Amino acid sequence: MYGFKDELTATLQQIRDDGLWKDERELTSPQQAHITTTKTQALNFCANNYLGLADHPEVLTAATDALQQWGFGMASVRFICGTQEQHTRLEGALSDWFGMQDTILYSSCFDANGGVFEVLFGEGDAIISDALNHASLIDGIRLSKAARYRYANADMDDLRAQLEAAKGSRRTVIVTDGVFSMDGYLAPLEQICDLAEEYGAMVLVDDSHAVGFIGDGGGGTPEACGVADRVDLLTGTLGKALGGASGGYVSGPAEVVALLRQRSRPYLFSNAVAPVVAAGSLKAIEIARTSADARATLRRNTALFRELMTDAGFDLLPGDHPIVPVMFPGEDGARQAGQIAEAMLEHGVYVIAFSYPVVPKGAARIRVQLSAAHSEEDVRTCVAAFVTARTEVLGNS
Ligand SMILES: *Cc1c(COP(=O)(O)O)cnc(C)c1O
Repeated sequence: MYGFKDELTATLQQIRDDGLWKDERELTSPQQAHITTTKTQALNFCANNYLGLADHPEVLTAATDALQQWGFGMASVRFICGTQEQHTRLEGALSDWFGMQDTILYSSCFDANGGVFEVLFGEGDAIISDALNHASLIDGIRLSKAARYRYANADMDDLRAQLEAAKGSRRTVIVTDGVFSMDGYLAPLEQICDLAEEYGAMVLVDDSHAVGFIGDGGGGTPEACGVADRVDLLTGTLGKALGGASGGYVSGPAEVVALLRQRSRPYLFSNAVAPVVAAGSLKAIEIARTSADARATLRRNTALFRELMTDAGFDLLPGDHPIVPVMFPGEDGARQAGQIAEAMLEHGVYVIAFSYPVVPKGAARIRVQLSAAHSEEDVRTCVAAFVTARTEVLGNS
């Protein structure tokens, strides 16, 4: 054991030396726009709480009522004795929203992505995946015996080349995030669907960073791109905009969902989503579907932040997703981004810096995430903190 522990100590030190160590700050408040931690109070600009539903009073009431009515836990997988009426209703609500035939719930989207490929695609099939896809898609695809192809991020020429290479496969599926989380860029779903049609491929979109707030009705990237009826399979999370508790899903044709219920390992061999989470998520979805005003507030906050930051001379990636990357290019960018993020916390604004290898070398950034729960004043405070921190770290040059 001693040798083993020494090796791990060396690995841990290496992670620190590489500047990749991740510390966890403990919140002493619920997740919301204004949080407190053990050390400080801060405005939070790094949560996925896009619609502000994580502490929405109606969600809390639904969850509290469910605790009393339905108990704390299921202590069973779904197919033994772990299905309550609200699990079925939650699946129905998601299907209805996305215009899909059926939906299957998982404990997380990580599990949904981990359980979908192995069942649907095997030997003789082809899975063609965007290079920037989420880790859970990558892992899920690895579990399948299908041939794997990768195309450069959102590169439609490369996607075509991979479709050519995969010709002759029994089933072919193109897999993409709806929104790429480090850039806030939407996948070019219309072109992807066109290519899929041309080559007889299916399309699977993981819409975790879009469901609930992208598209006029909150239906996500397919809705925003006008291809809601052309995407074959959707996966996503309940752990971001839709209340932010936990849970994931696969939506698609009835036969797909039926087969997943029979064969998908993270579904068959993992406990049912807790009643409180099912009920709270159901309420969150109900609110999200009718929250045109929250989506408008989110868009307004995002536009204001972009405008003020651009006026202040910051370098932003283009777009209008509430993920706004503030770029610090060049060799010194990683240090600058890290120090500016740290200085901002001193001024009561919580943001996170990302550098290599999470993003490419020379493309360090502070990723800001706006929420409908932010006020206009919150957004202005965030920009002011950026300006002050920049002066502190870089001087007045
Ligand atoms: C957050 C995220 C996930 C993981 O979702 P969980 O429900 O937290 O497991 C999966 N895919 C994408 C694209 C994500 O952004």
